[in-house]
Amino acid sequence: MAEIQLRNLSKRWGSFVGVDNFDLTIADREFLVLLGPSGCGKTTTMRMIAGLEQATGGDILIGGKRVNDLDPKDRDVAMVFQSYALYPNLDVYENIRFPLKVRRIDPATHRDRVMRAAEMVELTDFLHRRPAELSGGQRQRVALARAIVRQPNVFLMDEPLSNLDAKLRVSTRAQIKNLSHELKVTTIYVTHDQIEAMTLADRVVVMNKGVVQQVGTPTDIYDRPANVFVAGFIGSPAMNLMEGEIRGGVFEGARVRVPGLSAPDGRAVLGFRAEDAGPGAGSEITAPIYTLELLGDSTMVTVRAGGALVSVKAPKDFRAEIGESFSAHVPASICHVFDAATGARR
Ligand code: ATP
Repeated sequence: MAEIQLRNLSKRWGSFVGVDNFDLTIADREFLVLLGPSGCGKTTTMRMIAGLEQATGGDILIGGKRVNDLDPKDRDVAMVFQSYALYPNLDVYENIRFPLKVRRIDPATHRDRVMRAAEMVELTDFLHRRPAELSGGQRQRVALARAIVRQPNVFLMDEPLSNLDAKLRVSTRAQIKNLSHELKVTTIYVTHDQIEAMTLADRVVVMNKGVVQQVGTPTDIYDRPANVFVAGFIGSPAMNLMEGEIRGGVFEGARVRVPGLSAPDGRAVLGFRAEDAGPGAGSEITAPIYTLELLGDSTMVTVRAGGALVSVKAPKDFRAEIGESFSAHVPASICHVFDAATGARR
């Protein structure tokens, strides 16, 4: 069992709070993704779990055992970083085998274990090449195999795909997902790429400025963002957000009027996703077109409504001119309402 419990885990440097009271139980075999903008505390959280950074508050339990004071090597976690850190003078076989030697694991088992790990990441044809003779994606797979070969209880992966080009990133991402399914090892994966988070995770933790904003399945986070930060971070494009006032269930803001909301009176932020709205009847928003983007399967129409740019998905054959007036249908049923002062979902 490798359930991981983080209890009020914190990291401070002087008065600066890197990670603030992170409290979460990660289930045995769960694939958890830490997602957030640069500097939000993802890597610091991971490094505390690995034992590379000392927590200044709280506890870390792996399989029920408190590990705060254990050395990294005694925590039974394997890490994969964005820089592969392979040994340039060793071939692929020896690179994969390295952790077994360091851990003084019975040499009679090495060949089997290396071959099995190499097979999983499809490297059996490259075992006698040195890292310099491999592509970026192949090197990344050596790093993965080196983590797999140890058969750890926990995988920690810190942006393992960020050095790969877009195409390789997609195929290696699929491979990681498949591997995690096959190996059934508790995995914590750090990324600032929301597509990676949404495609890989059982649950996503969205962080900002050291503070956990929301924990949930990818669907939860997409469909019911807990606050304005999550709404504005998840989705491509992110959710449209407009400031205004609700009176008697009617939201009014610059160039927008949405009736039929069940939300209390007061200042509010109204959100909706471009793909949930469309041109035409209802005309809850009428504003001049700021830009039009042809996306192949659809046309994204962006209008300027007061201070906000608001995007609405239109059919692919939709045509109009920049500056022309555009009306969008934004029914109350697709809207999310957030508190204007706290940003929290209402
Ligand atoms: P990125 O995606 O850019 O890697 P991150 O979310 O992983 O970002 P962290 O590396 O965890 O962010 O850093 C969190 C915050 O802690 C940042 O503001 C960073 O500047 C700060 N920080 C990290 N290490 C130290 C340190 N040794 N001393 C002081 N502040 C630090």
